[in-house]
Amino acid sequence: MLRELFIRLSQNGTARDFVTHFGPARRAARRFVAGETLDEAVAVVRALNARGIKGLLNEVGESVTTPEEANQAAQAFHHLLHRIHAEKLDATISLKPSHIGLSFGPDFYYENVAGIVETARQLGNTVEIDIEGSPDVPATLDVYHRLLDTFGGGVRQAVQAYLYRTPADVQAIANRGGSIRLVKGAYSEPPEIAHQSKTAINQAAIELMEIFLSDEAQANGAYLALGSHDPVLIEWLIREARARGIGKDRFEFQMLLGVRRDEQQRLADLGYTVRVYVPYGRAWYPYFMRRLAERPANVLFMARAVIGK
Ligand SMILES: Cc1cc2nc3c(=O)[nH]c(=O)nc-3n(C[C@H](O)[C@H](O)[C@H](O)COP(=O)(O)OP(=O)(O)OC[C@H]3O[C@@H](n4cnc5c(N)ncnc54)[C@H](O)[C@@H]3O)c2cc1C
Repeated sequence: MLRELFIRLSQNGTARDFVTHFGPARRAARRFVAGETLDEAVAVVRALNARGIKGLLNEVGESVTTPEEANQAAQAFHHLLHRIHAEKLDATISLKPSHIGLSFGPDFYYENVAGIVETARQLGNTVEIDIEGSPDVPATLDVYHRLLDTFGGGVRQAVQAYLYRTPADVQAIANRGGSIRLVKGAYSEPPEIAHQSKTAINQAAIELMEIFLSDEAQANGAYLALGSHDPVLIEWLIREARARGIGKDRFEFQMLLGVRRDEQQRLADLGYTVRVYVPYGRAWYPYFMRRLAERPANVLFMARAVIGK
């Protein structure tokens, strides 16, 4: 119920105006969002790098309303890649399809994302693509395959364990030696298309990891990033990779800024690749609300910050 409420609030304009202008709530958000400017995000990534953790920078923003806005957002990702290069950060970028124009059609989106992947390639970097609500999933995955056709690699696609369609999507990517970020899924999807219980979603996630760890997928060069804080999934991956003799360079762990910071460090200290998603930018509100939706403790954390304890 709490989850539904915060997901709904994440889309509500009045709530957004209130929270984004309310000082204590803005301060609470800083645990999960690096700041409103790129300079602030660079400082956060530098601190992560100093602790042996990689960055995954995302200028937050979703669902632009005009093609011009989408092109501007795409330009910002080019700029971001150049800044990462200039600052010699150990970081890549993540973008949302709706932010760079998926709603204006797959071709429009493809042009923008392909331009960004090309810039990344020239700078020796890579690009990650977030996955959004179910109406956007088919086109997002089609474009990912087009990107693989064009570039061969250098781009990773997030996929959601809760969707029933994902095993087929993951198998298709594994067959091509592509790369996924496996997440549970952050949107509210109906039971007709998505698992609802935590047990079913975890079981689905394990079966998806099995596809990527199979001999065939590994021989194709498939690379798995697990985007989760769940100890059950993290320990499963560590155990299973060890049992199958899959090296630490063949998969990685990804977590969100401000979530399970001790665990991020523990895994990095054990020699695993750990990458932390660092969102920044003025449009941080929906992102912050989805983090509150995920976990009652996050709401308590914000409540304490707001009442000043
Ligand atoms: C790097 C990254 C990228 C993502 N990208 C996308 C995307 O593109 N599209 C999308 O739909 N979703 C994305 N997500 C969000 C994802 O779908 C989940 O909503 C989110 O990660 C919560 O799921 P979980 O796997 O962490 O497990 P949960 O079921 O939320 O948590 C499992 C367990 O993790 C532990 N845990 C979780 N949070 C905390 C905490 N704050 N402190 C201590 N323990 C904690 C607890 O033991 C908890 O029981 C992303 C997540 C990550 C980490």
